Amino acid sequence: MPCVFCKGHDRYSFMSIVNGNYICRQCGAGDGFSLIMKVSDCSFIEAVEMVGQYLGITRQGYSNPIHFEENIELRRLEKDRYLKEAAAEKHRQEAVAAQRAVRLWNSASLANSEHPYLIRKQLPALGLKQSGNNLLIPLYAHDHELVNIEQINSCGKKFGLKNGKRKDVYYRFGQESWTVYICEGWATGASLYLMEGQTIQVYSAMGKGNLTAISYIAKEQNPDSRLILAADNDTHLSGNPGLKDALHAAEAVGATVMMPPAISTQHRGTDFSDFYLANGGHAYGTL
Ligand SMILES: [Zn+2]
Repeated sequence: MPCVFCKGHDRYSFMSIVNGNYICRQCGAGDGFSLIMKVSDCSFIEAVEMVGQYLGITRQGYSNPIHFEENIELRRLEKDRYLKEAAAEKHRQEAVAAQRAVRLWNSASLANSEHPYLIRKQLPALGLKQSGNNLLIPLYAHDHELVNIEQINSCGKKFGLKNGKRKDVYYRFGQESWTVYICEGWATGASLYLMEGQTIQVYSAMGKGNLTAISYIAKEQNPDSRLILAADNDTHLSGNPGLKDALHAAEAVGATVMMPPAISTQHRGTDFSDFYLANGGHAYGTL
């Protein structure tokens, strides 16, 4: 159609009834307000006034509350709120999983010492329980509250409860003692415990990432004991993460570190479970 501004007869196309967008091949494109500004040769505010009068609404001053710095601050607050909500939700789910852990633990029977995992690691059940074919390892949080259960099926596959807490949880062997060991895995901890004649306390941190946190917990629960990080000797991995993480944890709590000598094993690397097996295995278990 003809352009209301620059006339002609077919240069103008009306594009949108929502915002008045138009295109004129002669004088350019814009939205409805820009067309009023063009035709009436006025400012945006004046165009708004005109539209307001036409519609019977009074214009109210609009101040944009989000300036650049404030925008960053608002985003940061929003992100904080989101993270807090996510953490609260995770905490809530972990609490539900902890209730399931208690029910599962209370209803399970003592572990069969013939469970394939125990046979393979040459370990007695040491107070573990069993549900069906799954060996149950109770996992505790800092106040020794049962919060999750690691299950090991007959093929040796390990899995926790859905939504169960994995971070900063441990399994603990033995009573308070002068020497307290901290290591990564359950079988490693059990092997150390047996090699020391079940006379010491051992914390299994259930993974490398937990070593430092569990070392702090061990120190808090045993303020007068000497702590020893029993490292995995991960010679098969670059940078030996087992030793590196143990050194890091030891430095954090003022502990010493010991590490098994590298033994040729099927899965490469050496932990104290391999060391125990290489030195007679269940011979220790009869103590
Ligand atoms: Zn035009």
